[in-house]
Amino acid sequence: MSVANQLYQLQELDLALESNEQALSRITSQLGESQAVARVQTRLTLEHQRLEELRRQQRSTEWEIDDLSNKISAAEQKLYSGRIGNPKELADLQHEAETLKARRSQLEDKALAIMEQVELATASVASKSSELKTLEAEWHNQQQQLSTEIEQLKTILSELDHKRQLLLAKIDPQAVEFYSELRKQKGTAMARVEQGICCGCRISLPTTDLQRVRSDSLVRCSSCGRILFLA
Ligand SMILES: [Zn+2]
Repeated sequence: MSVANQLYQLQELDLALESNEQALSRITSQLGESQAVARVQTRLTLEHQRLEELRRQQRSTEWEIDDLSNKISAAEQKLYSGRIGNPKELADLQHEAETLKARRSQLEDKALAIMEQVELATASVASKSSELKTLEAEWHNQQQQLSTEIEQLKTILSELDHKRQLLLAKIDPQAVEFYSELRKQKGTAMARVEQGICCGCRISLPTTDLQRVRSDSLVRCSSCGRILFLA
C-alpha cells in the first residue's frame, strides 16, 4: 500500500473519529434535567399552594357560618322564649338576629364562590399532575435512549481509535507528522484525484503532477497544498 493510500485511510479514520466525537459531546450535553419538567413542577407547586389557601379560606368561612348560626339560634331562642317583655329590647334582639342572618347569607355566597374556585383549582392540579407525569416519562425515555447512544458512540470511538493505532504503527512517522501539520492547517490533509481534478480545491492538475502521483510519491496539489491521493 502506498504512503498516500495509508495517509488517506488515516484521514478517513480521523474524520470518522471527529464526527463521532462531535455527536458524543452533542448527546452528552442533552443529558441532565429537563427544563420543561422543571417548569411544570414549579407551576404545579404554585397551583397546590393556591388550592391549599382556598381550602383554608373555605374552612374559615364555614367556621364563621357555624358561629353565626349558633348566635342566630341563641338570639331566636331568646326572642321566642317569652321571657322578654320590653318592646325596645325585643326590637333590638330582632334587629340583631336579622343583622346576623344578613351577614350569614353574605358568607354563604362567599363560601359558594370559594367552593367553585376549589373545584377549578382541584381540576387544574389534577391536569398539571398528569401533564407532569407524561413529561417525566418522556424525559426518562429520552435519557435512557441518550445513554444507549452514548454507549454505542463510545464503542465506535474505541474501535476507531484501535484501528488508528494499528494503522499508525505501519506508516512512516515523518509522513504522519507532515499529514498532521497539513490537517491542522486545512482541516483535511489528503485530497482524492478524480478525472484529473483535485477534490480538495476542484482544480485540474497538470499531467506531470498526475504522473508523479501515479508513481507512488507524496505529491502536493500546487493549488491547495493537500497531498494528492489516487483512488
Ligand atoms: Zn488542490
